[in-house]
Amino acid sequence: MANREQLKAVGEMCPDFTFDDSLNKKATMSTEESLSRSCEICSHWDVRNQKCRIDVFDDVLTSLDQT
Ligand code: SF4
Repeated sequence: MANREQLKAVGEMCPDFTFDDSLNKKATMSTEESLSRSCEICSHWDVRNQKCRIDVFDDVLTSLDQT
């Protein structure tokens, strides 16, 4: 299971990150949070199953480990 640090690290590096517009109102409530990318605010993130819908999470995480 991915932890929050990983979600942020992957979100920042992921080439497929797409801001989830439906979270816009929530995000503007906390300016600091909205500035930092994370899988949690990506439109590809499946909140219910806590996984990336297009399955690139593991790829990005692996590439982070290699740097
Ligand atoms: S949810 Fe998937 S596409 Fe979105 S930032 Fe995370 S790994 Fe990338």
